[in-house]
Amino acid sequence: MSKQILVLPGDGIGPEIMAEAVKVLQLANDKYSLGFELSFDELGGAAVDKYGVPLADETLERARAADAILLGAVGGPKWDKIDPAIRPERGLLKIRSQLGLFANLRPAILYPQLADASSLKPEVVAGLDILIVRELTGGIYFGQPRENRVLESGERHAYDTLPYSESEIRRIAQVGFDMARVRGKKLCSVDKANVLASSQLWRTVVEEVAKDYPDIELSHMYVDNAAMQLVRAPKQFDVMVTDNMFGDILSDEASMLTGSIGMLPSASLDANNKGMYEPCHGSAPDIAGKGIANPLATILSVSMMLRYSFNQGAAADAIELAVSKVLDQGLRTGDIFSAGMTQVGTAGMGDAVVEALRSL
Ligand code: NAD
Repeated sequence: MSKQILVLPGDGIGPEIMAEAVKVLQLANDKYSLGFELSFDELGGAAVDKYGVPLADETLERARAADAILLGAVGGPKWDKIDPAIRPERGLLKIRSQLGLFANLRPAILYPQLADASSLKPEVVAGLDILIVRELTGGIYFGQPRENRVLESGERHAYDTLPYSESEIRRIAQVGFDMARVRGKKLCSVDKANVLASSQLWRTVVEEVAKDYPDIELSHMYVDNAAMQLVRAPKQFDVMVTDNMFGDILSDEASMLTGSIGMLPSASLDANNKGMYEPCHGSAPDIAGKGIANPLATILSVSMMLRYSFNQGAAADAIELAVSKVLDQGLRTGDIFSAGMTQVGTAGMGDAVVEALRSL
């Protein structure tokens, strides 16, 4: 039976980078007889324009029925001033929570060819290979109550809530330990247990889960220190596990160690490894429509999809090798460009990966 993949290009550079990822996916589909069928729909601002909401019920149903989802990015200035309840980002949060995609895997790998593109010294980042496991469906981005109001005194006042339950922490901790087990056997749990009650529970539950993983070296770190250590000595980390907001911020920081956020894929998985795959970056409105966005994060998201949701390791390896070959050829989009390299646009990079994959 064929496997269904729902493609949601989204907003801004989303459709541009997705066009290249789809070329690579279709070639992999033919070359490795993967039996994928692709369908397309809208999410985010594009869905607001088409359906009046950032995630239409029919789109959610299509996503539920699909075996995996490939997403570009959502958001942009066009929708910044609309009713907050239908902002593009709400569609993204809703699809993640409705599909139970609680485990966000964000690898930060420095391709040796891009050591010069990192903002840190090559010796600090050479060989960097970190996996950040971010809790994705709980915490402060979903917590209720939340409110933005005017007090009787006339002062404006707003607050959010940061809730975590034991079961939410336990399942994401287990993903962290499982990932550490197939990697370098080191897990660093990041929290703010010196201040936050939710972090104190986080740390207690992570310690409990650790008893099932005696082979994994567990450490704890406060998030402010983790932010510092990531730029001071990032290679000390193997797998980091953390909550929704801390993971959001730390994974963007980690992305810069690798040269550009345009290189970083991500996977968001449910309990059965059904997943949504997307680049870590946003819709980059500043460069949208210019044909210069880096499509490699989205192309590498395709490879994560083949690996985690479809168990097609050989095809995933081939896509990653094709990306590496293109970097070896000296082709660079603007965000990873350095002297002596050849600058290409979004389509040029996508075509080069397709050619490299075809010739493997
Ligand atoms: P962003 O990631 O879109 O852009 C940050 C910077 O990185 C920009 O200078 C941009 O040009 C650059 N950049 C990002 N992706 C790139 C790529 N593939 N190639 C080259 N350069 C790239 O973050 P932002 O500017 O904070 O947010 C822009 C919009 O995206 C906002 O509406 C925000 O809400 C949304 N957003 C969406 C997601 C998502 O869809 N998952 C994630 C983050 C932000």
